[in-house]
Parts: sequence; structure tokens; C-alpha cells
Amino acid sequence: MYKVWIDAGHGGKDPGAVANGIQEKDIALKVSLGIKERLEEGYKDVQVLLSRSTDVFLELKDRTSKANAAGADILVSVHCNAGGGKGGFESFRYTSASQNSIKLQDALHRSIMAKLGGIDRGQKAQNLHMVREPKMPAVLTENLFVDMIADADRLNQASVINAIIDGHVQGIATYLGLIMKKKEDKPVTEQDVNVPSKWAEKTWKEVSEKGFFDGSRPGVSVTREELGAVVSRLLKYVERTG
Ligand SMILES: [Zn+2]
Repeated sequence: MYKVWIDAGHGGKDPGAVANGIQEKDIALKVSLGIKERLEEGYKDVQVLLSRSTDVFLELKDRTSKANAAGADILVSVHCNAGGGKGGFESFRYTSASQNSIKLQDALHRSIMAKLGGIDRGQKAQNLHMVREPKMPAVLTENLFVDMIADADRLNQASVINAIIDGHVQGIATYLGLIMKKKEDKPVTEQDVNVPSKWAEKTWKEVSEKGFFDGSRPGVSVTREELGAVVSRLLKYVERTG
């Protein structure tokens, strides 16, 4: 069972970047909850743990110490960008990142860009707490700019949030080599109402031949008046045969 730690950036009194009616903390939470739901529903042997599942404030050190204590296999910190860029997506690993952190960044970055499209600002390295302190491979994603009108418009679209979620889910699944859960393919055996079920064949033939039923539509349920007619025929049959 893999443990994936998803860290929704900011929260509570810390909204993160705020512009164009968007608060970074809200996008980060929505994306993080979506990642948990889709990873756990779609893949085998994976559990997603969250720094926060509601709008609460957490210190950076609490986020990473909890992830380390839980023994998570990977950590992904979800953010949105701001600050005068041209917009787009970028990801961060630590400046002296492990080989596995680099692999995780590569898998995440590729799959998010593939789903999201737009400007690719690149796979970057920076001395950030959230990628420096985790004991496991760790990556921080910056999902579009809240202070760029075009990006903010995209962040208001459910399809774009879905693309960000799916990109993270697929990147994590690729890195960990997760196996998809099979959809239970139940064979759809809809009964032809004009053909008796196998188990009822003999009985249906008998009651039809004796005239209790007219032999039509064996697979349809019976009304009280239809049942009344059958009982009446049955009574007459009993009278007749003694
Ligand atoms: Zn942030």
C-alpha cells in the first residue's frame, strides 16, 4: 500500500495569492481533495493523506513533519502562482534533489502539461521548505497564475480544475507504477420478456398448455386482475377435473 502525501498550499488566515476573485488556498484545496478521490477510486493499493482537508491554517514545518512521521512514499505540494509572469505551469524540486525527486517531478510535470496545455515554464529547482524538508521524493506544483486574467479565467472553469487534478493523478500513478482498478464489468443480461427463463421453462409450458396462462410474455410481471383471471381458470379446471 503506497502512501501519497498531498499538501494543499496555504489555508485559513493565509489565503496565498489573491487576485481576480480567486484565492490560491481554495484552488489548492479543491485540487488536493480531487487528487485523493480519483487516486483512491481509480487505483489499487494507494492511500492519500492530506495536510489539510478543510480551510485551516498550518505552519510549513507541521506539514512536512506530519508527512515524515506518516512515512509517506511521496509528497506533492499544490499551489497557484502569482507575480507578474506571463502565466502557465511550472514545478519545483529541491536544489539538491534526489534522483527519485527528479523522476517524480518529471512524471508530474509531463502529465500535468499534457492535460492542461498552455505555457510550460519548466521543471525548476529551488530551496523551498516543502521540497527540502520531506524525507521522501517531493515536488511542488504551481498551477497557473491567479493574477493573470487569462489564467484566472481558466482557474474558474471546472474542466481546467479537472485537468489539473487528472494531471497530478496520472503523474503520481506513473511514478509509483500504480495499477488501475478494473471497472466491474457485469455482463448485462437483460431478459427477453417473450422468452421464459431457463429455470421456468417446464412450468411455463405446462401452465400455458393447460390454459391458465395464454403463453405470451412470460417475463412480464402480473397485475391483480390478471392473477384473478388465472385463479378463475384454475378454479374451473379443478371443478372440471374433480
Ligand atoms: Zn503558494
